[in-house]
Amino acid sequence: MNMVYRVSIDRLACIACRVAPDLCPNVFVLGEDNGKNRLVEAYSSKTSNDVSTGVIPEELYACARKAAAACPVQAITVDAT
Ligand code: SF4
Repeated sequence: MNMVYRVSIDRLACIACRVAPDLCPNVFVLGEDNGKNRLVEAYSSKTSNDVSTGVIPEELYACARKAAAACPVQAITVDAT
C-alpha cells in the first residue's frame, strides 16, 4: 500500500522566498491570495490566510521534505499520516 504524508505550511511565518515552489513545484505554489506558499490545489484540503494543509502521495515525499529542510523559517512540516 502506498503511504501518504500530511503537509502543513505556516503561512504567517512564510516570507515568500520562493524556495519551496522552486524545489517542489508539484506540491507548492505561491498563492495568488497573499503571495505566500501554499499546497497546490490538487493536494490542498484547507488553505487560509494563516495555514495551508493537505496530503501528498509517497512519490512527492522526497521533494516536499527537501523544501521543508531548505525553508529559512521552518514553515513547512511533512509527517507520515
Ligand atoms: S521556503 Fe519557507 S519561506 Fe520560502 S516560500 Fe517556502 S514556506 Fe515560504
